[in-house]
Amino acid sequence: MSGTVDHDVVIIGAGFGGMGAAIEFKRQGYDNILIVDREDDLGGTWHVNHYPGLAVDIPSVTYSYSFEPNPFWSRLFAPGPELKRYAVHVADKYDLHRHMRFGKAVEGARWEEEEGHSGGGHWVVNLSGGETLTTRYLVAATGYLSQPYRPEIPGIDEFAGDVLHTAKWDDSYDLSGKRIAVIGTGATAVQLIPEVAKLAAEMTVYQRTPIYVTSKTDFAIPKSVQRIFARFPLTQRAARLVSTSLLELLMVAGVLRYRQLRRFNERAGSLAIRHMKHHIKDPVLREKLTPSYSFGCKRPTFSNDFYPTFNLPHVSLETTPIERFDADGIVTTDGKKTTIDTLVLATGYNIWDVNFPAFEVIGREGRDLGKWWRDNRFCAYEGVSVPMFPNFLCLASPYSYSGLSYFTTIEYQMQHIARLFGEVRRRQARGFEVTEKANEEFLDRMTVLLGDSVFYNGNCGPVRSYYFNQHGEAAILRPTSTYNTRREAGSFALTDYSFS
Ligand SMILES: Cc1cc2nc3c(=O)[nH]c(=O)nc-3n(C[C@H](O)[C@H](O)[C@H](O)COP(=O)(O)OP(=O)(O)OC[C@H]3O[C@@H](n4cnc5c(N)ncnc54)[C@H](O)[C@@H]3O)c2cc1C
Repeated sequence: MSGTVDHDVVIIGAGFGGMGAAIEFKRQGYDNILIVDREDDLGGTWHVNHYPGLAVDIPSVTYSYSFEPNPFWSRLFAPGPELKRYAVHVADKYDLHRHMRFGKAVEGARWEEEEGHSGGGHWVVNLSGGETLTTRYLVAATGYLSQPYRPEIPGIDEFAGDVLHTAKWDDSYDLSGKRIAVIGTGATAVQLIPEVAKLAAEMTVYQRTPIYVTSKTDFAIPKSVQRIFARFPLTQRAARLVSTSLLELLMVAGVLRYRQLRRFNERAGSLAIRHMKHHIKDPVLREKLTPSYSFGCKRPTFSNDFYPTFNLPHVSLETTPIERFDADGIVTTDGKKTTIDTLVLATGYNIWDVNFPAFEVIGREGRDLGKWWRDNRFCAYEGVSVPMFPNFLCLASPYSYSGLSYFTTIEYQMQHIARLFGEVRRRQARGFEVTEKANEEFLDRMTVLLGDSVFYNGNCGPVRSYYFNQHGEAAILRPTSTYNTRREAGSFALTDYSFS
């Protein structure tokens, strides 16, 4: 059906989100699909990240496509390289490789009306290197955690030692015997710090906000169990159901329904504190590692070896803010200087300044999506579409993240695509656009529901987490159960869209 355009569908991002969208578009009968990624291979997060200790923090039976179970996960929480292999397997099986093009960053996309077609139009996509493409439908699957954040600390550019960012890890770099500073104590740092400590001569961890870490029930999955999963897929589905239900309970009871179930949240927080106290006996260290905010305001994580690392004689925890870098070290605001050879930035990602959207998107009447979101409020109807942006699906968007495993989000968005394009086909339409009214009603509903969450009822003041945007709104997580999210993805009112 391409007609005058180069492609029916252009998907930006070859991570699990973009691959899920491509699988769904193929199911809907489209084949002229292009998946563009600025990296040199597929996998998104799991291609880009390969720092020591990388693993999933959601059990692998749940952190995978439900329609493509992998019976051969080696552990309950699989290490990063297995996720990359799984992504390659999915691309092989669903014939995605031939649609992919790498090494091209999308710099912008602009909607162009077509003369003589009421409501008809297409997207013009600008790639790095000056190339342009045209497409009927545009899908941004650029991920939340894909634009690495580098802190702007005075003197950081003058630091003469080696600098590694967890999202740009140099596998050939030898950490052995080095004096190392790690900045950050988020979920990535929790995985990385114990591994760096094994090799460093000295390690100082600079912490701004302590994280809640609970114990991790992780174990190798015996080959015999893997064979049972392969032979009798229902057994793995049962394991998935158990793990998914526990995660759902944690999310809904612990975070989203804080107002009604505050006790549950406090219990989860105290379990993490108990875990920390079990490993840390020094009262000063305990104090430093104790969060002063409610559980869930910042993404908590699981680890058994994070806290014990701080008991090692060559590891110290610094909580005094960093004032500046010298060429050979870090100086904190109390004047203390720590000389280092290597700086490791576990400082995460920039979501609200440079992501959302990850490239310039100009819709109807010249509306700039990034500017519009920032000048008004961040919102995407059902976490996928925005008024004034016809034929555009934005998968990493406000209120789209449902549940704790990102695969829940990917799969409900696939369901949304199926329902929406079923209607496009039925009407023999070429264009769709969500109505302003539907978008506003969705935003109102999310706002009311968020009023029950820990973000607005708990004590989130002392934390600067990526859940909050520049307006102080926690506009990432969808404040409903995943059951509700999936149900709506399969039954949203088709009148919420106009078709042309
Ligand atoms: C270290 C780490 C561990 C994680 N662990 C978990 C976990 O255990 N459980 C969980 O639920 N989630 C986890 N996440 C979140 C994870 O990002 C999602 O689970 C999921 O992988 C996102 O898939 P995606 O395809 O939406 O985005 P991504 O995997 O981020 O892929 C986005 C792709 O878009 C490309 N891209 C971005 N901008 C452009 C552009 N302008 N032009 C061209 N290409 C572009 C990027 O190169 C990237 O390949 C983790 C994230 C990180 C960083």
